[in-house]
Parts: sequence; C-alpha cells; structure tokens
Amino acid sequence: MLTALLGGTFDPIHYGHLRPAISLASEVGLKQISLLPNHIPPHKPQPEASTEQRLAMLKLAIEDLPLFALDVRELLPKASTRPSFTIETLQAWRQENGDSEGLAFIMGQDSLLSLPTWNKWQTLLDYCHLLICRRPGYAKNTNNIELQQWIEVHNTSNAQDLHDSPHGYIFFAHTPLENISATEIRLNINNQASCENLLPAKVWHYIQQQELYCAKK
Ligand code: ATP
Repeated sequence: MLTALLGGTFDPIHYGHLRPAISLASEVGLKQISLLPNHIPPHKPQPEASTEQRLAMLKLAIEDLPLFALDVRELLPKASTRPSFTIETLQAWRQENGDSEGLAFIMGQDSLLSLPTWNKWQTLLDYCHLLICRRPGYAKNTNNIELQQWIEVHNTSNAQDLHDSPHGYIFFAHTPLENISATEIRLNINNQASCENLLPAKVWHYIQQQELYCAKK
C-alpha cells in the first residue's frame, strides 16, 4: 500500500487542500491521505490560529471524509521544540516502516517551486515520491536550473510507477485548479467578507465561533 502525506500549516484548511487531494487519490489510486500539520517554532511568524485550533479545524474538515486521516507527529512534544523539517519527518517514517513500503508526499506547485529553500531537498526522493497538485498562478517550469533538471530526471507520468517503487518519482497530477489560499481566507475574514464557499461548512462555523482571523480588538 502507498501511504500518502499532505503537509501544511492549515491555517485554516480549505477546499484548495481537499479538492485536489480527493482528485489525486482517484488518479493515482490512494486509499488514504494523512494530513500532516506542521509545527512552527516560537521565533518564527506564527499561524494566526493556535495549534489546538488548527487541529480542531482539521478534524472537523475530515470527519465525513474517510479518505483522510491525521498524522500529528510534527506536533508531538519531542518534535515541536524546533521547526518541522519534512526530511526529518520522512526519515522517521522510514525508520518506523522500513525501506520497502511506498510513501508519497503531496504538495502544491508553489511548494515544489520553493523546494530549493527546503532542508536537504535533493534527498527527499530517497524517502518518498512527490505528488504535485496544480495551483493557479504557479508555472509548471522553473528558472532554477538545478531544480528543473532534478524534476526532469525523476519525473514520471505513469501512476503505476508510484506503486511499483517505494520512493524516487515526481508525478504531476491533473488535479482541478482551485484558486484558494489560506492567506486570502484570513484576509477576507479580517475584511468581514464571507468565505463560506472556500472551506467546509463545519470549519467556517468553527472559525466564526472562535472569532478567528478577525482584527485584534
Ligand atoms: P498560506 O496562504 O497561509 O501560505 P496555503 O493556502 O498555501 O497557506 P498551506 O497549509 O501552506 O496552505 O499548504 C499546504 C499544502 O497545500 C502546500 O503543499 C500547498 O502547496 C498546497 N496547497 C494549498 N493551497 C492549494 C491550492 N489552492 N491548490 C493546490 N495546492 C494547494
């Protein structure tokens, strides 16, 4: 079985996370996708919602969607004394699950383009496949020659490759374009605009009930 992780800040979770992931699951044949909320250490710009609130929203978002599960390893006390480095999470997963299990890490096109800023990014494929969801406004190609070459070497358009090898491929999915970002949602709420159609109703109600993302009084 191919395990899939979708990492993010989820401040808040929205349909730009969920809809592409659902489409990706049927394109690739994923039985489950685990949402992996990250920890941001105290000296970095913090998510506006607390860790508990981000978690609560994730739980509400997926409670009627059996495709999704939660993986909170980056929030556990041992991990949350420092920033979440994806490479370390993947290494820990491999130690627990061995070398022959399939692992895929899902990200949007924007995250792929930012990879050169990630810790030990060239070694990510030693631990997982990367499944890339389209995202409006982000080009398919990059001017970063090193990244572009790395993508070309590892790219596959055959979803079966992802099941036949435990790691090592980059797959560009034909996921729907969802022009939604958490930044836009936070701004809209701060401007008293409704975001009802951008995220699950239960998450929207929670945001209202907790008075999240409103300007500080
Ligand atoms: P922010 O606006 O605060 O930066 P975000 O909306 O990009 O947040 P994150 O939690 O940072 O959300 O994203 C987690 C993952 O989901 C990232 O890999 C990101 O590329 C991907 N993602 C987020 N929104 C979309 C979207 N609309 N379409 C495709 N992928 C997305």
